[in-house]
Amino acid sequence: MRLTVLGCWAPFPRAGGACSGYLLQDGGANILLDIGHGTFGRLLHFVHYADVRAAIITHLHPDHYADLHCLRHATRSAFREKLRIQRVKLFLPADPQPAFFELTAGAEAFFDIIPIESLPEEEVPPGLRARCAEVGQVKIFFLPVKHSLPAYAVGVEGSGYLVYSGDAAPGEELTAFAEKAGIFLCEASGLDKDAEVFRDVHMTARQAGELAARAKVKELIITHFFPEYDLGELYAQAQEGYGGAVEVAREGNTYFLY
Ligand SMILES: [Zn+2]
Ligand SMILES: [Zn+2]
Repeated sequence: MRLTVLGCWAPFPRAGGACSGYLLQDGGANILLDIGHGTFGRLLHFVHYADVRAAIITHLHPDHYADLHCLRHATRSAFREKLRIQRVKLFLPADPQPAFFELTAGAEAFFDIIPIESLPEEEVPPGLRARCAEVGQVKIFFLPVKHSLPAYAVGVEGSGYLVYSGDAAPGEELTAFAEKAGIFLCEASGLDKDAEVFRDVHMTARQAGELAARAKVKELIITHFFPEYDLGELYAQAQEGYGGAVEVAREGNTYFLY
């Protein structure tokens, strides 16, 4: 399993940067985890747009979906040019409905549109209820998390187990979901001083570290950085919370998991 960072900023990028988006490759499948502003152009450094098998949008904030419009145009072209014959599986929350309809209306010919809420619910260890799907040989789990609108953390089980928090406040269920993940890609939107403002919506870097420590993850990668913040400060607070070395996501970084 290979994870490449396409973008790591929120809610707007630094100069020349990109918002949330990651390319996950496993079992021959190219899967996008979020596709925020500026990520599509970076994706093309790694794969051809006609070779995207699935796209997952964790929640309907533009810093996580803005470049879905690019994927939509590119996929339509790929069909027209006969570069692909299968639709791209698009997993996304059905709410808020105006954003859902804007992203999906008229796209049925080239996107297999799958509202996450329509997926079967299964019990995943240790006793959590998660929505489940398969993309090729990879199993995908969606766990509802606390945020300012309906949002999901994503677990990917393939040649390793990776968990991506999406945008989420800390919580017991997310901790259990991330338990023993080979890679835990976690939002770290702010510094200690932001804890009160972020309550029930986001995580600070320290909270991301503490959650990762409780979940005993093998590797913590922090991401979703406010562009004005010093990454060294975010790293230091995440590392104190975690009690070990932490990776800081940057565009183009690639991580391997076996
Ligand atoms: Zn965000
Ligand atoms: Zn958000």
